[in-house]
Amino acid sequence: MSDGQTTDTVRRTTDPVLTVDNVTKSFGGVTALDGATLEVRDGEIVGVVGPNGAGKSTLFNCIMGVYELTDGRVELDGTDISSQRTDVIVNSGMSRTFQLARVFPDLTVRENMLINQEHRNERLVETLLSPSDQEVYDRADELLEFVGLEKLASSPAGELSTGQKKLLNIAGTLLSDPEIVLLDEPAAGVNPGLVDDIAQSILDLNDRGATFCIIEHDMDMIRSLSEYLYVLHNGTNLEQGEPETVLQKEAVLEAYFGQ
Ligand code: ADP
Ligand code: MG
Repeated sequence: MSDGQTTDTVRRTTDPVLTVDNVTKSFGGVTALDGATLEVRDGEIVGVVGPNGAGKSTLFNCIMGVYELTDGRVELDGTDISSQRTDVIVNSGMSRTFQLARVFPDLTVRENMLINQEHRNERLVETLLSPSDQEVYDRADELLEFVGLEKLASSPAGELSTGQKKLLNIAGTLLSDPEIVLLDEPAAGVNPGLVDDIAQSILDLNDRGATFCIIEHDMDMIRSLSEYLYVLHNGTNLEQGEPETVLQKEAVLEAYFGQ
């Protein structure tokens, strides 16, 4: 199924939650993704790396229904979601964060969490004002505690550092208990002191059952987090397998550092 080389040291036995099968995405004359393939299984942390412009963010946008695919197929739990709208995909159990953290600065940290609940009404403000069940509140506070933001729950989110905003975004994606969470560069722009906190939160949340697919530039972070790694280059699979092995491959080093 894949064009990339497989390193068969990792046994992947369960059914995939997410399947990206030969996905191509062209923007006019630019082919951002060219037959990219990827699988994420229940309970895994899967990494996606590749040089700038490799197609990583485009891959997430194709998975989330932001872009219409030029070719190929995306499946969530075996169901074809390739032509679905983003909100339908989110409600089916896929959640994501963005390369740049996104918060409502004037709302409190807790309110930013609660905004992630399924919108009963069209308008965000109505979602906030509508009575949340105690269960949702409790889950929001529990997740904030998990990522170490519980003391800041009543502070405006605008006062958080970049790293704290990213932690808030990660916690927010989990409020609806998704099947899988896509994280686009969780460490980018984050103060080095907080990168370890973010990595630890991801590991803790994974221990509790969360499944992650993570794009990351920080090689130490991706090495310590992911159990399976895909390398994209020029929109296609270059290598895949156990991170330690994959990152030593000649082709990967060449893609990153040129000849
Ligand atoms: P990465 O996230 O790996 O750095 P991207 O997915 O952002 O890479 O981009 C892959 C390629 O596709 C780049 O050459 C980029 O310029 C191009 N690209 C991405 N999005 C668009 C778009 N909306 N329109 C035109 N070209 C795009
Ligand atoms: Mg990107």
